[in-house]
Amino acid sequence: MSGADLHPIDLESPRFSIKKPQMRFDRQGDRTDDERLAAARRAFARDFGRAAAIYLEACIRCGQCAEACHFYVTTGDPCYTPIRKLAPFQEIYRREMGPFAWFYRLLRLGPEVTAAQLEEWQALIYDACTLCGRCTLICPMGIDIAALVARARHAMFAAGLVPHELWAVAERAEREGSPLGATPTVLKERIAWLAEENEVDIPLDRERADILATLSSIEIMKYPQSIVALARVLNRLGESWTLSTQGYEATNFGMLSGNTAWQRDMSMKLIEAALACGAKTLILPECGHAYEALRWEGANMYGRPLPFQVLHISEYLATAVREGRLKLKPLGKSVTFHDPCQVSRRGGATQAPREVLRALGAELRETQDSGALNWCCGGGGGVVTIHRADPLRYRAFEIKMAQIDARNPEVLTTSCSNCRQSFDDGRAHFRWDRRMGSLLELVAEQLAD
Ligand code: SF4
Ligand code: SF4
Repeated sequence: MSGADLHPIDLESPRFSIKKPQMRFDRQGDRTDDERLAAARRAFARDFGRAAAIYLEACIRCGQCAEACHFYVTTGDPCYTPIRKLAPFQEIYRREMGPFAWFYRLLRLGPEVTAAQLEEWQALIYDACTLCGRCTLICPMGIDIAALVARARHAMFAAGLVPHELWAVAERAEREGSPLGATPTVLKERIAWLAEENEVDIPLDRERADILATLSSIEIMKYPQSIVALARVLNRLGESWTLSTQGYEATNFGMLSGNTAWQRDMSMKLIEAALACGAKTLILPECGHAYEALRWEGANMYGRPLPFQVLHISEYLATAVREGRLKLKPLGKSVTFHDPCQVSRRGGATQAPREVLRALGAELRETQDSGALNWCCGGGGGVVTIHRADPLRYRAFEIKMAQIDARNPEVLTTSCSNCRQSFDDGRAHFRWDRRMGSLLELVAEQLAD
């Protein structure tokens, strides 16, 4: 990213002309427009604290965030400029909460945001932001646009303006405990089947354990060999560990959809399961946003510091490597690692997977932008659930294919099952001949005798 790439943007003009053509927007409930707008305003006022207000005041409209966003870069459409995705919320802030709000209201400056405009913004707040935070890293004013978009989603949820697929998986997760139907009964059946089929002990509901391991429903339903890999690694290391039917689902669609109550419910299941078995460590699965939800927001949901440590599985593996406990057979292949945004960029655990890959003796082929600057797979933040966003997501995925093809690795790996799913889908769509794999599964395959 260089200064030559930058271009000033005009946030005001064309102000409300970014409605995507032929887009059908989703609404939950049968409220009137005024009720929706009032609910959005209330949620916005409740969630936008001092930090958010400073962010909204600080933008110097330099346009640098545009070049950081995969949706802008691959479409060239100014509506995908990150800060513009917050335009209606900036307007609410100015009129309702900013230092000159009284002045704006008195002189009727600027158009009032309407429910219809909020509805139009649904496509930007949900379809066109993976909450990847790349724009946040690039912004010279340090404006955390990803966090602001996440807050704006709270207002959208309150207004009943969430894309229906995302709303449905979030509601299902709240009702059944899993967005993909991985209920406790399904988990028990899968564990029994996997344990027998693979001749591996997978402890479930042990009364006491040092480690509570958790899963992503994508692993349970789509990549079950990840569970076998987890068991093989933890058993080999002689850990006292368990899975728990009380709290196993680490994905958090309450957070992604913008419903704090549902987010808390999902997090509390994990926290209470860890407390119940006396775990000293809770291991999060190969899932990016699960890391954000529990590692960074878990204590807020709990209301005090968590009495156990929270590690992403890649951090756990790296620690075991560092301590000399995890012995691995050399892989002898070139590997490109795709950084999950929420673990590497937002989470800071950039080096953990690389330590593990070095322990595997892999020839690490980094893409041009990797680590904290990695480009998102395009499917994070719940975008992969939204069908109408597929064409946009595929455009973003073109960056990934070009980057990886330029490095031509023998093995492609990541530590997020949602990224893996996005890669599988992109691979099928483009008939791309590279398969994304799991770092955990790679490690399990290379366990030394
Ligand atoms: S959000 Fe940051 S990078 Fe984007 S226009 Fe404003 S100051 Fe520039
Ligand atoms: S968080 Fe990522 S997807 Fe969202 S606006 Fe920023 S760069 Fe784009």
